[in-house]
Amino acid sequence: MPRPRKNDPTSLINPIILDFAHRLAAVVERFTVGRIEAAVRASGNALQGRRGRAGGAGRARGKTLCYYPGCKNVAAPRFGMFCAALHKDIPKTEKEKYRTLHNKNGANKPAGKRGRKRRAQGRAQATA
Ligand SMILES: [Zn+2]
Repeated sequence: MPRPRKNDPTSLINPIILDFAHRLAAVVERFTVGRIEAAVRASGNALQGRRGRAGGAGRARGKTLCYYPGCKNVAAPRFGMFCAALHKDIPKTEKEKYRTLHNKNGANKPAGKRGRKRRAQGRAQATA
């Protein structure tokens, strides 16, 4: 590091730079805090259900019910869209049967595949 000379402008510039740095730090801090607050609020809303979805998260995931006729449990894709509680252990042939039945019933629905199939892993948690 070179020693500052008498007519070195560093002594003049340094306070300015310091001031600038402080201000910049303050601004960045405020900005960061704001962003964290927003993220926390968003995740809080997500946890509380569908109260404040103004942020446009756009992940309204409709719950698919178990394919077993009359069953009101939530389907688990891991068990071939049968509920984990009651019908995950039914024989494969029965699952096949109910699945085709379900597909036949839901065939007239316009909602086809919306590309939301294999996305279980990618859970991007924005915790600071
Ligand atoms: Zn079921």
